[in-house]
Amino acid sequence: ATPDDIENLLSSVNQFKFELSESDRISGKKILIVDDDKINRSIFSRRLEQRGLKVFQRENGPEALDFVKSQKVDLILLDLLMPGMNGIEVLEKIKLVDGYANIPILIISGLDDPRSIVMCLRRGATDYLSKPVELSVLEIKIASALEKNILQGNLEQMALYDQLTGLFNRHSILSALEDFEAGYVDEGLDFGILTIDIDNFKKINDTYGHDVGDQALQHLSQVVSQVIREQDLFGRLGGEEFIIGSNRISLPDFIDVSERIRAAVETNDMGLQHGILSFTVSGGVYHSTIGFSSMAEALKISDQHLYNAKNRGRNRVEVD
Ligand code: GH3
Ligand code: MG
Ligand code: MG
Repeated sequence: ATPDDIENLLSSVNQFKFELSESDRISGKKILIVDDDKINRSIFSRRLEQRGLKVFQRENGPEALDFVKSQKVDLILLDLLMPGMNGIEVLEKIKLVDGYANIPILIISGLDDPRSIVMCLRRGATDYLSKPVELSVLEIKIASALEKNILQGNLEQMALYDQLTGLFNRHSILSALEDFEAGYVDEGLDFGILTIDIDNFKKINDTYGHDVGDQALQHLSQVVSQVIREQDLFGRLGGEEFIIGSNRISLPDFIDVSERIRAAVETNDMGLQHGILSFTVSGGVYHSTIGFSSMAEALKISDQHLYNAKNRGRNRVEVD
């Protein structure tokens, strides 16, 4: 390609628009620069601060580690060659810090050495830049790493949680319950499962519309969250059916919890634009003292008890 070709290419894209959106994309984000070279640090900082980033600087691995243990940043720019602890070691240690497993790390490599770059990428670095670092390239790499991270987070969020209520979705609540199974089989830790289903939910939809139905599902998830313990599991199985799991709990205590949940839904009215809406749930209890063969069987039993609660008049919790 001739220089003319390159000029043509560049002028064919609307560069001004690109630069604007880049600043928008990275502005307000926090970034940590780890580099033993003071001049590098200040060149990078100045440019990134101009772009609206909040920049922190540390000059070696141990100081960087202290920093990340005390606060969260959105991205780390990490020099590979530093006296003492090198960038690869720092990278590995940062990845282990609480909340940092998925924070993007861009490596700045001084050596034009493919092996060390490969090593960093294998250990989870997001990308690398070779020195001398071109500031416009630095900016773009930061912007795309941040963006990719947000998208990734959204995907994880969608895979794990129910979009409407923010609770665990069916898949993740069922897999979380497997821990209870392990605790019971290995250590004999008792657990309980409560399956609840809104009574006459179809009528709420038919009377007030689907939106109010959705709000009722959100209302229920808030009400129930307030009466269970933090370590309890709570998820949406689908439709208007939910599951609550509690471990290290006796049968009488779990019945109390289940009854408390039922009563909370019954007594906490939901505010509507004109008036209030109240509804109830029915629940079916399974507890490990009933006998355990598999989690699938346990869920079936609580579902059977839920069915009994519906048949016995609704707004009740059944243990058999
Ligand atoms: P029962 O007391 O026997 O449980 O009766 P019900 O009306 O609650 O149960 P049914 O299974 O007849 O109806 C459940 C309704 O829930 C039907 C379905 O359209 C509605 N539904 C399922 N998921 C959603 C949702 O995400 N939002 C809304 N608004 N409605 C939903
Ligand atoms: Mg260095
Ligand atoms: Mg129902």
